[in-house]
Amino acid sequence: MKRKLALFTFFDALGWEIYKHYGFMADEVRDARPLQTVFGFSSAADPSILSGQYPEAHGHWSSFIYDPKNSPFKLMNMVKHLPRSLFDRWRVRHWLSKLLAKAYGFTGYFEIYSVPFGVLPHFDYLEKRDYFVPGGILKGDTIFDWLSQRGIAYHCSNWRLSETENLAALQQEISKGEIQFAYLYLPALDGLMHGVGTRHAKVAEKLRWYEGEVKKILAQARENYDEVSFYAFSDHGMADVVGSVDLIAVIEKLGLKFGQDYVAMYDSTMARFWFPNPAARAQIEQALAQVPEGRVLAGADLKRWHCEFGDTRFGELIFLLKPGLLIVPSFMGLKAIPGMHGYDPSHKDSYACVLSNRVLPKNIHDLTDLRGLMEAEIKQGLEVGV
Ligand SMILES: [Zn+2]
Repeated sequence: MKRKLALFTFFDALGWEIYKHYGFMADEVRDARPLQTVFGFSSAADPSILSGQYPEAHGHWSSFIYDPKNSPFKLMNMVKHLPRSLFDRWRVRHWLSKLLAKAYGFTGYFEIYSVPFGVLPHFDYLEKRDYFVPGGILKGDTIFDWLSQRGIAYHCSNWRLSETENLAALQQEISKGEIQFAYLYLPALDGLMHGVGTRHAKVAEKLRWYEGEVKKILAQARENYDEVSFYAFSDHGMADVVGSVDLIAVIEKLGLKFGQDYVAMYDSTMARFWFPNPAARAQIEQALAQVPEGRVLAGADLKRWHCEFGDTRFGELIFLLKPGLLIVPSFMGLKAIPGMHGYDPSHKDSYACVLSNRVLPKNIHDLTDLRGLMEAEIKQGLEVGV
């Protein structure tokens, strides 16, 4: 019996522009294509890859949703007056996030970033479950549901482990020769480019390291299987940061009361607003119209980007920055950083990519097309095996 392995390798933030600039896996890649990403951050993009659906269909978009009634963070009101200097340290917040996740039984990725404690009780957290295991997505299914329903042996990296640990875990699986599908998850390029930008020597170094590691995996796979199809793909690109805006100061200058008049979530590239006092909306809209660094999104934008959710949990009003600009400070970080994503999906730096040792079908142009590609490869493998 002929045995086939479909290896799908995820590289966080390996955008089409990054691929074009540095090249990647040239000895293996037969076909490469840009992929339009989805609007939002990884919390929107990853479920779109795994489900083949847009955010409005699978229900995942930004991690924090407005829900003061059901917020699990009400207790945070008790600590909101503690000194910020202590709790603004990244390490302290990271450990606190771990503690909260444990206390609330969250199995998905959970981080409170720099969201002030007094702000948390207005919000709920969307990713309570791990969507890299079957049954993890809010609506629809993921490739992992699809595989387990069909009893197909597969391996998926554990995002809680390091890249080296995940590479070793995959090698061990491949040596057994039992799996037909592997989802290798390599997230570190994203963090690196957030920290140094897209044109730093460390980015080239990291990509060359990935090439070496993936080649080792491929060589081993070819020893254990008759046929190996290889795909490298990403969730979005990365833009070099060229400037920032203190949007919180612009809004706070209005003298409105947070929580009573309005509630805001300041992500790094967008601000989302809700209006418990509807009269506050016009004032905030007027202030935002004076900020040339971004614009208030229209219904047509959200429709085009498949982010019409039918309610306002993700925002009554969304202000999006131009590519390369940052809200500083924001609830995601207090300082400016050299690289960011989460802008207009049609901007060149937003594009993700897919590369393969196969010829890519013509109809692959969106992030949501990757799921079909995975299924097609697996089905083909099953036919080969018959
Ligand atoms: Zn990122």
